[in-house]
This record gives sequence, C-alpha cells and structure tokens, in this order.
Amino acid sequence: MSLSATVRRWLADDENVIYECRHCGTTLMSTEQQCPTCGSTEIAKFDVS
Ligand SMILES: [Zn+2]
Repeated sequence: MSLSATVRRWLADDENVIYECRHCGTTLMSTEQQCPTCGSTEIAKFDVS
C-alpha cells in the first residue's frame, strides 16, 4: 500500500508498524511515546504487515 512507502523513512527499524498521533495525525517514530508536534501521548499503532 502507498501509505507504507510514505512512512518508511520514519520507521527504519520496523517497517510493518505505523505509529500515529491520535490528536493531530503526525506520524511518529517507533521509539517515540509522545507526539513532538502537540505533546499528546495518545499514540495509535497500525500493523500494516
Ligand atoms: Zn500530535
């Protein structure tokens, strides 16, 4: 899927899982537990494998 290619650069160590801020929609790195944009800790995890 095209979304996978878009976020691949963010997820160098785990290409099959996408983390996205539930509040503002920012794509996060897999190691981030808090959104750097809005500070929310509500992170959505998507398994795209
Ligand atoms: Zn956010």
